[in-house]
Amino acid sequence: MATALQLDIVTPDQLVLSREVEYVGAPGVLGEFGILPGHVPFISALTIGRLYYKVGGKDHYVFVSGGFAEVSDNRVTILAESAEEAEKIDFNRAERALKRAKQRLDAKNAELNFKRATLALYRATERLSLQNRI
Ligand code: ATP
Repeated sequence: MATALQLDIVTPDQLVLSREVEYVGAPGVLGEFGILPGHVPFISALTIGRLYYKVGGKDHYVFVSGGFAEVSDNRVTILAESAEEAEKIDFNRAERALKRAKQRLDAKNAELNFKRATLALYRATERLSLQNRI
């Protein structure tokens, strides 16, 4: 059996990551799931959250804004609207996004797009949660 997985994380803008890894943990809509080499073919929708992968036994974290994961032939392909490796997240920007989302939700304006503001709040919160994972 193979001992490695090829992990590719793709957004509409760029190839965020392409790396041989030992394990992938991903935020599935029904909860986190893990992929080891030899996993059966599988597709799952992803939620806003943190994906992590192991190389040399070390964990590396990546923010994903939802999307899809496809597993086939020891390849894990993540298609996400946006994704950033923890080291590349601009935490000040995430703080500002969180503040904006909170202000919108607190204002209870009749024009408020509640779902949009809530999703922005989740994205900012998950990005900020990776501050101590670098
Ligand atoms: P913002 O309001 O700050 O744009 P957002 O959650 O609405 O945040 P997204 O729609 O998820 O942003 O992403 C838009 C683009 O900006 C993507 O390319 C994403 O990778 C990038 N991006 C967003 N926030 C950050 C961040 N804090 N650090 C690095 N890149 C970010």
